[in-house]
Amino acid sequence: MDFKNLINKIADNYIPTIKEMAAILELDEEKSQYLFRVADEVKKIYHGNYIHIRGIIEFSNYCRCLCKYCGLQADNNELIRYRMTPDEIVENTREAFEAGYKTIVLQSGEDMWYTREKISYIIRNIKKIGDIAITLSVGERDFDDYRQWKEDGADRFLIKQETADENLYNSLHPHSNFKNRIACLKELSRLGYQVGSGFMIGLPGQTTETIAKDIMLLGEIKAGMAGIGPFIPHKRTPLKEHPVGDGFMTLKAVALSRLLYKKMHLPVTTSLGVLSSEHKDIAFKVGANVIMQKVEPYKFRRLYEIYPKKIGDESTIKEERLRLEAYLKSLGLEIATDRGDAF
Ligand code: SAM
Repeated sequence: MDFKNLINKIADNYIPTIKEMAAILELDEEKSQYLFRVADEVKKIYHGNYIHIRGIIEFSNYCRCLCKYCGLQADNNELIRYRMTPDEIVENTREAFEAGYKTIVLQSGEDMWYTREKISYIIRNIKKIGDIAITLSVGERDFDDYRQWKEDGADRFLIKQETADENLYNSLHPHSNFKNRIACLKELSRLGYQVGSGFMIGLPGQTTETIAKDIMLLGEIKAGMAGIGPFIPHKRTPLKEHPVGDGFMTLKAVALSRLLYKKMHLPVTTSLGVLSSEHKDIAFKVGANVIMQKVEPYKFRRLYEIYPKKIGDESTIKEERLRLEAYLKSLGLEIATDRGDAF
């Protein structure tokens, strides 16, 4: 089938085969412009010209895991570790709320210092601040923890599938396994969370068919959000010599996801911005409708080193928010003012 017909059919709700998706992901620069244009049209129909800005507090870089790609992995003993106290996290959220954030993502390594009770305390106190959606991103935990936090008022949970290739997943995560990851995602969905997933582009052995399967998996687990970002090597990890993920492939994966999942929230991932500001700008025009902004104190941002990145000059949460809004407006985009719930 002609690639334009295939793209049109997917935009009209045809479910493509893995091979057809792989063929789209292999389109060259010139042909992919058609994919990008249709993805942008779909985005505008379902999301208008609006971008949701989420605030993210990276509140601890302690981690019990051994993910082979991540700078926070437990074996990285050169990293200076930090934890924010529950009250610091609540206060940080208050500042973000006052600066205009309607969603706060609370992210950390898998740090069991934050017991079920401590996270409950954080959620309940944030909910007293105002109408702010809470996304938890604290990794794999006991299902009773997930249930309690939902009852406390947490709205969403971000835990990425990372890769749909079970063997690859298991080799990259010696401390856990793919089945458990998917079980977490399904349980979170069953508990009523809006679930965020996502995957990396450029993992070892990944093919366009793997990426196609990744995109299909997002639908199977009913993800309300999916962060698709390039892998970026970190020198204190086993994948330090592995090449950086491809920005162009990332854009095609975002665009194809937009064709399939019209209402899904698709962020421009931080890793794509770290890879190249040009790719970041383009992502907003090929289907993405969300961006996350760090809001924790700078002394912690420097230490939340999943992969190497520049931190920029220190400014207040409000100043940064205004700068981000001005940047988005300069791209011809508008800022969403609602909470941006999924579906
Ligand atoms: N611990 C939580 C979890 O496992 O869901 C959340 C924190 S984890 C550090 C956040 C995300 O960072 C992961 O889901 C992974 O996709 C991404 N990440 C980690 N290392 C990366 C790398 N080297 N390049 C790109 N993304 C990376």
